[in-house]
Amino acid sequence: MKCAFCGHEFDEKEARQGCGACPGGCHSVHCPKCNYSNPLEAKLIRKIRSLFTRNDDQGGDGA
Ligand SMILES: [Zn+2]
Ligand SMILES: [Zn+2]
Repeated sequence: MKCAFCGHEFDEKEARQGCGACPGGCHSVHCPKCNYSNPLEAKLIRKIRSLFTRNDDQGGDGA
């Protein structure tokens, strides 16, 4: 992935996870270069959202 801050490209496995500095546990991908915490959940959130919004898709009862 690419760091949104400095543009450094790195592997997610390379990133520092569990840095201990993020509140509530680290859920970010820290750039190994500048330590910026890139949001890891971008893809995940989309997936989760699609799960939650699924119900709306079926709301076609004609009421
Ligand atoms: Zn960076
Ligand atoms: Zn962190």
